[in-house]
Amino acid sequence: MKNTYDIIVVGLGVMGAATLWRAASKCSRVLGVDAYGPTHSYGSSQGSSRIFRRAYWEGDNYLQLLNHADLLWNELEQTSQQQLLFRTGGIFIGPQSSRVVAGSIRTAVQGAIEHELWDWSKITNRSPAFNIKRGAQAVYEPGAYAIAACDARLEMLNEAVKHGASTDFGHRVVHLENDGSDVRVTTNGGRSYLARSVIVTAGPWIADNLLPELKQLLEPRRVPIYWFTPKVGFEKLFAAEHFPVFLYEREDGALLYGVPSITGNETGVKIGFHNRQHTPASPDCKAIPVQQRYVTEITSIVESLFPALERSPTKAANCFYTMSPDESFLIGKSKILESTYFASACSGHGFKFAPAIGDALADLSTGQPASSSLSEFSANRFD
Ligand SMILES: Cc1cc2nc3c(=O)[nH]c(=O)nc-3n(C[C@H](O)[C@H](O)[C@H](O)COP(=O)(O)OP(=O)(O)OC[C@H]3O[C@@H](n4cnc5c(N)ncnc54)[C@H](O)[C@@H]3O)c2cc1C
Repeated sequence: MKNTYDIIVVGLGVMGAATLWRAASKCSRVLGVDAYGPTHSYGSSQGSSRIFRRAYWEGDNYLQLLNHADLLWNELEQTSQQQLLFRTGGIFIGPQSSRVVAGSIRTAVQGAIEHELWDWSKITNRSPAFNIKRGAQAVYEPGAYAIAACDARLEMLNEAVKHGASTDFGHRVVHLENDGSDVRVTTNGGRSYLARSVIVTAGPWIADNLLPELKQLLEPRRVPIYWFTPKVGFEKLFAAEHFPVFLYEREDGALLYGVPSITGNETGVKIGFHNRQHTPASPDCKAIPVQQRYVTEITSIVESLFPALERSPTKAANCFYTMSPDESFLIGKSKILESTYFASACSGHGFKFAPAIGDALADLSTGQPASSSLSEFSANRFD
C-alpha cells in the first residue's frame, strides 16, 4: 500500500542515517524523513570529523556497542570505496588519577583493548605537539581513529537507498499518533504516512511535538568548537599521520578534545571543551556567534598546550549536545505510542555508536532480538 511502511525513521542526523541503513538491510519498506536536506548545519551531526575510541573512560558498559560499531564503521568504509576512517590512534592525557586516564586504563584492561601507558617524557617524545606539565600521564590507544563524519553519514544514506529505502527531505514531522496497531506520521507539508514501527532520532528536537514524554529527561545545550591552524613550519606536527585524536583533562576537571584536519573541508586542528562552555538553548536558535569570553578562554589554553598552533582560532562555530541527567544515552520504546522507538540524548558522545545503536533499533522494531543490549540506556532508569 502506498504511504505504508514497515519502518519510518524520523530525523536523519547520524543516528537516523545509521538506523535507516541498518533497517533497509533488514526489511523492505523503509522511509527516512528529515526536516532539512541531507547535509545541513543544525543539530548535532554537522561537521567533518568525530572521534572513535574504545578505551572508553566513561565506562566498560559501552564496550559491547563500541565493538559492534567498530565492525560496522569498517564495513561501511569497505563498501563505500572511499576513506572514511583516519587511523590516527588516540591519546588520552591527564593527571594519573584523572577520570580520563584512570577510566581509559580500566576499560582498556577490561576489554583487552591494545593500549600503552605513557609518562611525561614519552608523551613529549612521541607527540611533540603537546606541551604538557611534568607528572602528566597518558593512555595511548593505537586503534582509535577519526571518522570523516559528513562523508560517512552520506554514505549510510547511500547504502540505505541502495537497499531500497525511500527518503523525504525538507519536511518536518509535526505529529505522531497511534492508528490501530500502526503509527501515523504527519509532516508539515500535509503528508501522512503509516508505519508498523517508527524510530525517532530527532536529536535535540526529539521532545518537541514528537515524544514529549522525554521532555524532563533531556536538555539541549549549545556548545562551541574551534579550529586552530599550525604556525608556519609546524604543519607536519599536526598532520593526521603524526597527530592522534586526543582527550586532555586538566587538573581542574576541564576536558578538552581535538581532531587533526582529515578532509579538505575543515582545515586546522578542531578543538573544543567537552564539559565547559555549555549554554542551555533551543536547537532552533541558529547561527548564534560564539561568545568572545569563550574564545578568550580557549585561546589561552591552546596557547599553552600547543605552542606551535596559531594563537587565535581561524573559525569558531556552535553545535548541539543533547544532555541526559547522567550524561549517558536515552534509548528505548515509547510508553505512549505503539511500536515507537527512540534514540537521543547522546550527551555529546553518541556519533561513534550510531551504527550499532541503529542496528539494534532496527532489530527491535522488526521483532528480532537486538544485536546489542540497549536496556541500560532505557529512560526507566530515572523512574
Ligand atoms: C561539537 C561536537 C563534537 C562532538 N564530537 C563527538 C565525537 O568526537 N565522537 C562522538 O562519538 N560524538 C561526538 N559528538 C556527539 C555526536 O555528534 C552526537 O551524539 C550525534 O551527532 C547526535 O546525532 P543525532 O542524529 O542524534 O542528532 P542530530 O544530528 O541533531 O540529528 C537530528 C536530525 O533530526 C532532524 N529532525 C529534528 N526534528 C525533526 C522533525 N520533527 N521532523 C523531521 N526531522 C527532524 C534534524 O533536522 C536532524 O537532521 C559531538 C557533538 C558535537 C556537537
